Amino acid sequence: MFEKIKIFFEELETDSLESKKDVLEDILSLAKEEGLIEIDKGKKVDDLKIVQTKYFGKKGIISDLMKYMGKVSNKDKPILGKIIHNFKTTLEDKLNQRFTVLKKTEINAKLETEKIDITLPGTNSQRGHKHPLTLVEEQIKEIFTNIGFTVVEGFEIEEDYYNFERLNIPKDHPAREMQDTFYLNEDVVLRTHTSPVQARIMDKMCPQLPVKIIAPGKVFRRDDDSTHSPMFHQIEGLMVDKNITFADLKGVLLHLVKSIFGEERKIRLRPSYFPFTEPSAEVDVSCGNCNQEGCRVCGYTGWLEILGSGMVHPSVLEMAGYNSNEVTGFAFGIGIERIAMLKYGIDDMRLLFDNDLRFLEQF
Ligand SMILES: [Zn+2]
Repeated sequence: MFEKIKIFFEELETDSLESKKDVLEDILSLAKEEGLIEIDKGKKVDDLKIVQTKYFGKKGIISDLMKYMGKVSNKDKPILGKIIHNFKTTLEDKLNQRFTVLKKTEINAKLETEKIDITLPGTNSQRGHKHPLTLVEEQIKEIFTNIGFTVVEGFEIEEDYYNFERLNIPKDHPAREMQDTFYLNEDVVLRTHTSPVQARIMDKMCPQLPVKIIAPGKVFRRDDDSTHSPMFHQIEGLMVDKNITFADLKGVLLHLVKSIFGEERKIRLRPSYFPFTEPSAEVDVSCGNCNQEGCRVCGYTGWLEILGSGMVHPSVLEMAGYNSNEVTGFAFGIGIERIAMLKYGIDDMRLLFDNDLRFLEQF
């Protein structure tokens, strides 16, 4: 094409373009036909860009034609201009038209492949849930608040005085050997049980009656094996009023056990010793694994030990200011880990503190 145009202008020399414009128009007419076909053939926007460059680019046919504008006479300039203009606008219109169509097609195709089906099930983000110890603690709190107990809190760092002395365990008392204590200094300990809350709450309430509280929280002892952890959780219970008897204690504990483990479960109270209760009792629950026929879980006894309890020792009441001739009370201490292990069949207490999701996800 460039060659034909070049030859045309070479042959034109000094002749006027007007007399030979038909020849140029014929040449360009062919070029135009070719161009229109190429535009039609383009299936993609990128194909059209190649055609566009071929005709409209810096080295394209139109630029080439424009070079001859400077070479023809002034009289011929408008004639050549008109010819170039016709050639250019036809191709330009066709090209724009085709660009519009192809761009639309490509957008539609893209939308089709990127379509989002909003009815597809979503990817669920994992939801956290409560730790088994929290579940047990919350359940126990609910059981007791439903029968009129108030939930109170004590201090994890406690005075020796409240942790021991106010519970009838003076400095030289052999009962101190029962609990391997973390001492922060001579007079301050990490509490070894939730029982100091008994003394603190009675101090606060005396002479008011009744005292009806539970106190959940962390306690600390120098112990670490499959059934002991240096930090574990207890719930202390205390009820003080006139005419509180051992039968009240038994009734409350039976209600607790049935609420946690099921209506069919029974309890057994065994005589025991705690310095701050008299009499004292260890409480067992009937084994749900074997229906008391004897199994590995209950050590073939049919019973599982779950908590310690007793009637508040008169000295403990007196130290708080209550007259032990007029008021009585009961107290108990529940190990939350112990209950969780029995309830969920966990055989190693350390699992509760490892934070292994494979374990925790099961609750
Ligand atoms: Zn059993």
